[in-house]
Amino acid sequence: MELAKLVRDIPDFPKPGIVFKDLTTLWREGDAFHEAINRMVEHYQDYDFDYIVGIEARGFIIGAPMAVLMGKGFIPVRKPGKLPGETISISYDLEYGSNQIEIHKDALKRGEKVIIVDDLLATGGTIIAATKLVEELGGSVQGIGFLMELEFLKGREQLKGYDVFSLLKE
Ligand code: AMP
Repeated sequence: MELAKLVRDIPDFPKPGIVFKDLTTLWREGDAFHEAINRMVEHYQDYDFDYIVGIEARGFIIGAPMAVLMGKGFIPVRKPGKLPGETISISYDLEYGSNQIEIHKDALKRGEKVIIVDDLLATGGTIIAATKLVEELGGSVQGIGFLMELEFLKGREQLKGYDVFSLLKE
């Protein structure tokens, strides 16, 4: 199945000059969504890990079904103020302004192995922040996975030393 054809381009969202890759048009097609998740699962089949870490909110749509299919636990990384327990947080810069994400302090024990997933790799700022949160808790990042990667933004260059996989590239 040509999954890439189901990704819709929305120009000038969320601001002028950005072409937003809208994955909702892929997720709404049952067969395509199923195939995309299955292919992610296949890729990580032989990896040794304990948890999938997903980044709010679109990373949940990829990470949760992967975790269920692989029989692993799911750990959410969320926007500030959403997680009810004690958290650690990290701020990171975006093109304009900054953002913050959090993880529960007791989500991981030292040495536990994770795969971190999000929907899309753009500049890499979000995923690097998530990686730092996991590592601050003593977690070990075995892989970083995306449904889609925008290669021209060179996010992968910021992730040297990590095992990075993306199902679709543009
Ligand atoms: P970044 O931190 O630049 O890698 O941006 C990653 C986050 O922003 C991802 O979670 C994506 O969901 C979202 N994102 C950034 N740029 C785009 C884009 N052009 N199309 C769709 N989503 C994007």
